[in-house]
Amino acid sequence: MILYRLICSQGHEFESWFRDSEAYDRQAAQGDVSCPFCHSTEVSKAIMAPHVARRSSRAEDNGVPALLDERHAALRTMIQELRQKIAASTEDVGDHFPDEARRMQDGEAETRPIRGRASFEEAKALLEEGIEILPIPGPPDESH
Ligand SMILES: [Zn+2]
Repeated sequence: MILYRLICSQGHEFESWFRDSEAYDRQAAQGDVSCPFCHSTEVSKAIMAPHVARRSSRAEDNGVPALLDERHAALRTMIQELRQKIAASTEDVGDHFPDEARRMQDGEAETRPIRGRASFEEAKALLEEGIEILPIPGPPDESH
């Protein structure tokens, strides 16, 4: 016996047992497989999306989990555009970001939009100190 997750032409998803894959193919072709919700016989196998979060080697170095998936290409493009806009309107202070953010907070440095890098712990500490920062998600394969 084999359990298939099926989807009808109306988008209803349901599960059904078949003796084997050939039995499914035959019954589906004969219109013997129908949706329990709308009785449509236009059913097909639903795509089972595996829930796999892949980590890039670089994200792993930083200890930051990263979800990298081809299906998120559009999202990555959006993030990339966002990063480019941010890059165009901020000063890159690199690894000095936590120091520079504190100096600006303390009035020791001119207040201006800056960007840079901070570890998860540093970012958390800044937020706890009441310094407003915005973590920017980025494709781990992109350079800064
Ligand atoms: Zn249906």
